[in-house]
Amino acid sequence: MRAVLDHVGIAVERLDEALAFYRDALGLEVEVPEDVPTQRVRAHMLGTGPAALELLEATAADSPIAGFIARRGPGLHHITLRVEDLRAALTHLAARQVRLIDSAPRPGAHGSLVAFIHPSAAHGVLVELKQAAAPAVRLGTASMPWGELQLTTLHDGPFRLDGGAMFGVVPKPLWDRLAPADDRNRIQLAMRPLLVEASWGRLLVDCGVGSKMPEKARDIYALDRTVHLDHALAERGMDDASLDFVLATHLHFDHFGGATVRTSQGIAPRFPKARYLIRDAEWEDATHPHERNRASYLQDDFVPLKPAGVVDFYAGDVTVKPGVRVVRTGGHTGQHQIVYLESGGRTAVFTADLIPTTAHLQDAWVMGYDLFPMETLAFKKRFIREAIDREYLIFFEHDPLVRAGFIRERDGKRWVEQIL
Ligand SMILES: [Zn+2]
Ligand SMILES: [Zn+2]
Repeated sequence: MRAVLDHVGIAVERLDEALAFYRDALGLEVEVPEDVPTQRVRAHMLGTGPAALELLEATAADSPIAGFIARRGPGLHHITLRVEDLRAALTHLAARQVRLIDSAPRPGAHGSLVAFIHPSAAHGVLVELKQAAAPAVRLGTASMPWGELQLTTLHDGPFRLDGGAMFGVVPKPLWDRLAPADDRNRIQLAMRPLLVEASWGRLLVDCGVGSKMPEKARDIYALDRTVHLDHALAERGMDDASLDFVLATHLHFDHFGGATVRTSQGIAPRFPKARYLIRDAEWEDATHPHERNRASYLQDDFVPLKPAGVVDFYAGDVTVKPGVRVVRTGGHTGQHQIVYLESGGRTAVFTADLIPTTAHLQDAWVMGYDLFPMETLAFKKRFIREAIDREYLIFFEHDPLVRAGFIRERDGKRWVEQIL
């Protein structure tokens, strides 16, 4: 087991006096305090490098911190070591006769799990073990060779959509276990454009939501622009000018909003050297929206591309570049398509909104957003069978944690073996 110092806890009697020293005199930065109701304590974290200091203030007379101060006075209360797997760590320690206060993990601050080791086992120091909360969304890029191609999953940051709309007719008690909803019934999603590099150039499949979204919509979709596609490209030593082609699976704002940017001269193409590859029939639908799809087809995302002369339209299912083939699924939109990446005898598929996340593996878990759900169902049924049997590597554009993996099936149960 590997343990890393996370923080040192200090019991304080009077918080203002403690802050006068730690914050004002030492100049340490104090984070927003967090209450841990089970311990009747308020924790104030102070950043001090990889490990932190934690000032602990009792919030009730019967708080363990109040008891500690009454017995021993204010001062060093505990040290916290971070472990990967708390349950495994406790089993490991119990097997070595280490005296534990908690034999099972319990909830700590910031969604973490914690357990205490008895001070008698740690030579007079109270030791807290902590397992940090799993991140809600995994950002950062990942890359792998695929025959003659190099595939890199990028991201355009996290966002949230209505959980009910994401799972259509599936009742919430069933999907909520796989994709927990927040207080506004939204589930965590990501936008993950895929970069394909080959001898013929660099092609980006979809390009995220971009930077044009107004404040109100950002709030509705919990759009967090702290890290986005620019950062993902920079992580790979690239920028907007590095791309030769941008291919759209469809023209919804969360897939192609990033195609254009607002400039002082109005809305303009974002990628200065790129040709934009768009299916002609999807363009027709997107530029003639109706009441049901108007909120998803935002005209500023794509209309300005045509007068700029940067669009190459194509018709039907075609190989847009060697190893990159589009196949219409319909269903989600009339012309929604997925992208086959075929090289070296292997097949990877970017499934866009056909299988947006790993929670959508069951055939009937079709989005309420889809214009033609029965068409989605028919295509998806056939496609998932094929993907399992032929071991296609699937890229999930909206999954918050799993970027790519193989769909596996046993006894009618499906799961994803995560690869990226
Ligand atoms: Zn869509
Ligand atoms: Zn989408």
